[in-house]
Amino acid sequence: DAYKKTAAPGSAQKNVCENGEGGETAQEVDQPSVGIKKSGCHGFCEMGPLVRIEPHGILYTKVKPEDCEEIFEKTILNGELIHRLLYTQNGKEYAGQEEIPFYKKQTRLVLKNCGHIDAEHIEEYIATGGYQALAKVLHQMTPAEVVDEVSEANLRGRGGGGFQTGYKWSQVASQKETVRYVVCNGDEGDPGAFMDRSIMEGDPHKMIEGMLIAAYAVGAREGYIYVRAEYPLAIQRLKLAIAQAEECGLLGENIMGTQFGFHLHINRGAGAFVCGEGSALTASIEGKRGMPRVKPPRTVEQGLFGKPTVLNNVETFANVPMIIDDGAKWYRGIGPENSPGTKAFALTGSVKNTGLIEVPMGTSLREVIFDIGGGIKNDQEFKAVQIGGPSGGCLVEKDLDVSLDFDSLKKMGAMIGSGGLVVMDQHTCMVEVARFFMSFTQRESCGKCVPCREGTKRMLEILERIVEGNGEIEDLDRLESLADMISSTALCGLGKSAPLPVISTMKAFPEEYMEHIVDKK
Ligand code: SF4
Repeated sequence: DAYKKTAAPGSAQKNVCENGEGGETAQEVDQPSVGIKKSGCHGFCEMGPLVRIEPHGILYTKVKPEDCEEIFEKTILNGELIHRLLYTQNGKEYAGQEEIPFYKKQTRLVLKNCGHIDAEHIEEYIATGGYQALAKVLHQMTPAEVVDEVSEANLRGRGGGGFQTGYKWSQVASQKETVRYVVCNGDEGDPGAFMDRSIMEGDPHKMIEGMLIAAYAVGAREGYIYVRAEYPLAIQRLKLAIAQAEECGLLGENIMGTQFGFHLHINRGAGAFVCGEGSALTASIEGKRGMPRVKPPRTVEQGLFGKPTVLNNVETFANVPMIIDDGAKWYRGIGPENSPGTKAFALTGSVKNTGLIEVPMGTSLREVIFDIGGGIKNDQEFKAVQIGGPSGGCLVEKDLDVSLDFDSLKKMGAMIGSGGLVVMDQHTCMVEVARFFMSFTQRESCGKCVPCREGTKRMLEILERIVEGNGEIEDLDRLESLADMISSTALCGLGKSAPLPVISTMKAFPEEYMEHIVDKK
């Protein structure tokens, strides 16, 4: 119903969308017409702007405005391909998106609709099977059965910690307090990470449906999406998605004719990295300064407004509808037993194909960087990859075959984090990398506890003098002892993990630190 047919006197009929931006291909027209849809991110950022021709799956890369007429005339009217706009890799030309190596090795489940549907029309999400999982839980399952299904799927939190989602939900559901909340963490603050942003912009209903299912499972009637203010398009599309879901009776009271009711609000964060931490995030929604607090009580016991709260990130909620639709057994069949499912990564840095990717957990770094990423830019040598943002660690050549899952990375002293992957070539100075991340965490420290507030400042000072050539050998011991003190005594995850990039680069590249100290003397 979103499209209507208009006919100008004496001209060919054409189809236009109600908002005037074009619509589906016409049925009763006397010449071919084309509609344009504003989709979310396709993920292949390096090659953008992209134009995908449906239903053929033809992908044109690096398209310029002046190419559009030619694309329309040749490909749409005559079915010919424009070769100079097709993607080429190692001398081979690709037309079909699914054949391009960047996409072929991916398993896009959470990102399946991103770049394919119009995120501003709820009908498009519903047409892909959207809100069927909600219908299934409301009409065929008890709340306890929903919690069991998510626990059985062993869905682990995609925000970084890898905590078992089903267990978290069961903890909230078992509280005596009956006022409960569901909160979505969309405060994606890691430098270089934009996984959650793409989901919120490209498929907002998927995470809303996940939140609705969580609310039904734990008995919550109200929820909040906490989005960073730097994501204006995500906020705009989420607002629209909420309004459309309310209009369709998918939010509000008596959802789908049942007794279940749920109301959803958006809260804009002001750009503090620490507000990604659970207790700082809930404090910020309450209108207080966003600072972590001592735990216990945990968020599942006393979270938002002191009530039991389910707090998951965007990608975690977006996994939930497919677990309900296809079952926990199916979900556990993807990736390793201890970390099933897929993970979205933002692949950036010195890699040929930068972009947003999604792979089964357990995929190796080598496959991600060399098969999907196409290798190192300008055929330089791989040196290292920073995984998990400023809270993560640095992995090197010998780690390329490590399985990307929560437990394997933890054993290596790194963490999956929210999914940022920054690839570096042989020209990157690792001491400078450590200084960059320390300067980020130092700036973002909320200042509540001394080890983090003062300790990160001292570490940054030492790193700065080493980079400037004024360091001394004893500085390396000072860095180690400060790192040890901060990670064992800081109050929250930001402080505890702040020394990780320094320690992992010192371990992997001790000679670079020495060169800075000795060479400059
Ligand atoms: Fe704040 Fe850092 Fe302490 Fe966390 S560790 S509470 S960010 S000062």
